[in-house]
Formats: sequence, structure tokens, C-alpha cells
Amino acid sequence: MEFKFETKAIHNGQNPDPETGAVIPPIHLASTFKQVSVGEHQGFEYSRTGNPTRQRLEEQVSSLENAKYGIAFASGSAATATIQLLLNKGDHVICGDDVYGGTYRFFDKVMKKFGVSYDFVDLADPENLRATIKENTKMVWLETPTNPLLKISDLSALAEISKEHDLISIVDNTFASPFLQNPIDQGIDVVVHSSTKYLGGHSDLVGGIVATNDEEFTEKLKFLQNSAGAIPSPFDCWLLMRGIKTLALRMTQHSKSAANIAEYLSEQQFIENVYYPFIDSHPNSDIAKQQMRYGGGILSFDLPSAGSAHAFLKKLKIFYLAESLGGVESLAEYPPTMTHGSIEKDRRQVLGINDGLVRLSVGLENVDDLIEDITQAMKH
Ligand SMILES: *Cc1c(COP(=O)(O)O)cnc(C)c1O
Repeated sequence: MEFKFETKAIHNGQNPDPETGAVIPPIHLASTFKQVSVGEHQGFEYSRTGNPTRQRLEEQVSSLENAKYGIAFASGSAATATIQLLLNKGDHVICGDDVYGGTYRFFDKVMKKFGVSYDFVDLADPENLRATIKENTKMVWLETPTNPLLKISDLSALAEISKEHDLISIVDNTFASPFLQNPIDQGIDVVVHSSTKYLGGHSDLVGGIVATNDEEFTEKLKFLQNSAGAIPSPFDCWLLMRGIKTLALRMTQHSKSAANIAEYLSEQQFIENVYYPFIDSHPNSDIAKQQMRYGGGILSFDLPSAGSAHAFLKKLKIFYLAESLGGVESLAEYPPTMTHGSIEKDRRQVLGINDGLVRLSVGLENVDDLIEDITQAMKH
């Protein structure tokens, strides 16, 4: 029987404990496992290499991305970094131009010194990918929707160009979560998540996930993970499984509320731009609607100046001023100096990250309360 999303989230990898029938199996904290005889074991040897609690999580989450293989990491950044270790000196990577700040920083400040080169281009236009491919290009890395401007890239178009040129295509699917979008179904090779965000959903853990159908890629990445050691703790794996069970319900409500707020903000005259994938003013809303179930829980908008953005953020009562996103509580932040503070001002301007930009992660509070909070914070 082929399960649908909500059923998979609750049952895949989640069988009761075979020994006791416990509906929620115990957390396996063991670092090492007794072997039957030399060269013979029951599936586990040492917890860096493999752990039963982590394996359950990997089964659960890979099934949600319609992938055969899942690998859980200590953080989204650890997943990103370990994937980059697959590259060799002299290789070239094409990366979206407004990927997560930490991803940009790792590529630009760390990987470059090992002789891997990167071009950062706007992949909302797939032709920019084709135009940037060189003889030594091996990988394309992107996010859609992007952060903080919610730009949308056409996944099937990018997957097709990547296949034509034998590039491995990797999508950081953190903003959409597997409930809203499944890049592998669109032909993308590998999906990465910061499970710190929507997958966990409760702002109480840091984690990362990689999902793919590519067996060779999986073997190489597992080898690197085992060598570099970027593994999550069994307790974090357990918390994550718990969060994932309600992902569909949460994403549905996050998206409904965010769409309501985006509409409300669009009606306010002094707000210059509202960035949200499913509103009509979004340049790629048609593509967003083709490849995403709903618009997601993140939106950004431009207030007239840095001063008005700071005043707004200070007056909010329900929205906490904080980095990160994807939790049940609503958060607001100022990208120019917070999440995107590591990007130089010139580059921020080229990217369209204006001085009055505010980003919201819409939580699961009552949306009328959230709109009331936004309204009072905008009053002078
Ligand atoms: C947070 C985030 C990351 C990094 O993940 P960590 O779990 O914080 O290491 C990567 N990509 C996106 C889109 C993110 O939002």
C-alpha cells in the first residue's frame, strides 16, 4: 500500500519497538554495539557510523522526499559542508545568488582555499545556469524559495539543463519543507534540509538532512560523514521524528496565515514591496503554484527606511525579534544586519536586500492576533 504524505510522516520508520511493543521506541543512546562474532554484527557497530534512532529518522524523512536514501546530519550547515567535500580541487560550482548566508560564507570563505571555484548567479532565470556552465562545472546548488526575497526557480527546467551537462543538482529545500515541494520528483538529484527549521518545527533542535535516489552519491557521502563525524545526537533525532509527524498540519496553517498577512501588507500604501511566492505581484508566482502545494510560512516586505524597520521590529509584541524560522512561534528579523549581515553592503544592494527590509516567519498563533500586532507596530 502506497501511503500518502501524512500517513508516511506518522508511520514510516516509526514501527513500535519489537521487544516491548512501545508505540514510541526507546532512544538508543549507545555509542557501541555488542558484536555476534568477529565480522558479524546485528546491523550496528559504532554510533558515528550508524545508530538505530538515527536510522528511523532517515527512513521517515527520506520517504517524505520520495527518496530511497536519507542521511541525517548534526546541522544543515554540516550537511552542506560534507557534500562540498565530494568535490575535487579544480572543480567549479554554480550557486544561486541569494542562498542562505552561511552557505555562501562556507563556499566563498572556506572551500575556495581548497581550489574549488564558485559562481553565484540568479537562477530564477534558468538560462543563467546554461550561460555559466564551464568545462569543469560539476555541481549546481540552489534554494527555492530563496532567502530573504522569496525568489522562485523553475526546478524542472534547472534539472533538465543539469542533466544535459552532467552536473549534480542540489536543492536546499528548507523553506518549502517536503510537504510543500519535492524537488526529486522534478528531476533534481539531491535535497538538503536544515531540519532546525520546519522539519523540527519547535525551535528546540539543530539538525540537517540529505535525501536522494542516487546510491553512489549516498555511499560517498556516508563515507565522508563517517570520516568527518558530523552526526546528530540520538536525542535530537528523536525530537525531530516527533516534530515531523505534524509537519503537514503545521505547513498548511503556516502557509494560510502567511498568505493572509501578505495580502494585508500588500494593501498598506507605505509598504513598497511584499515578497511572497503565491501573491500575484510575485514575478514567478505561476511557477511557484506549479511546483509548490502552498506558498509557505515566510514573507518579507520593504518599509521605507532602516529607521522605520527598526522601529517596527522594536514595537512588535507577539513576533520575537530573532534569527531562524519555521517554529510554532512567529519571528521577525532585519536581514541587512542579522541573517544577511555577513554579506557586504554592495552585494546586498545588487541582490535587492533594501535597508528597510523585514522578514517574518509566520508561526501558528491566531492570524488575527498576528495582524493586530503588525498593525500596532506600524503606528507611529
Ligand atoms: C538555517 C538554514 C541553513 C543552515 O542550517 P543550520 O541547521 O542552521 O546549520 C541552511 N539553509 C537554509 C535555507 C537555512 O534556513
